[in-house]
Amino acid sequence: MLVREFSAGGVVLRKMRGRWFLAVIEPHMTRPKKTPKRSNRPPKQTALVALPKGAIDKGEKPEQTALREVSEETGVQANLVTKLADIKYYYVRNWGDGARVFKIVSFYLLLYRSGRLGNISPEMRIEVQNAYWLPLEDASNALSYAGEREVAKGALQYLKAHPELGDHATDTTH
Ligand code: ATP
Repeated sequence: MLVREFSAGGVVLRKMRGRWFLAVIEPHMTRPKKTPKRSNRPPKQTALVALPKGAIDKGEKPEQTALREVSEETGVQANLVTKLADIKYYYVRNWGDGARVFKIVSFYLLLYRSGRLGNISPEMRIEVQNAYWLPLEDASNALSYAGEREVAKGALQYLKAHPELGDHATDTTH
């Protein structure tokens, strides 16, 4: 069985002390780090680094989902700037029906408005173990998924083409 899933998420940009950062989360899930074959050591668990995203609710526009999920998963409020890209992948559910899933995630470029990163509900803490501001130039290396790394590159390109975006950004020191 093949099912489809549609999610939406955001690259939330924030300028602090003249540098651009984006909000990333560590979803509560670890994956084994590549270890050399025949190593006796147990595989090291490294945290996933991902963009905030989530399922598009019935009647919701993907950009609304992106803003809502950003708020729920990171604790910050943001404004919509533009659409960046759709990323697509397959995975197999390791629960319930075990279906193969074709997933499309629409990502939007968002600008930080207010709130404190990590200020999330206790329920959300179960899903998100950490949220932090990552320097934008590090994103294409630090994000765990290739699709999300491409999305972050798109954000950097947009910023280069629209340097005025920083003029309206909050430039705080923390
Ligand atoms: P959502 O955040 O949309 O509610 P979810 O947490 O239920 O979704 P995903 O984050 O899509 O589910 O994760 C489902 C599977 O897909 C996991 O095995 C995850 O490692 C993998 N996955 C997540 N994002 C990507 C991606 N960008 N590229 C490839 N695989 C991914």
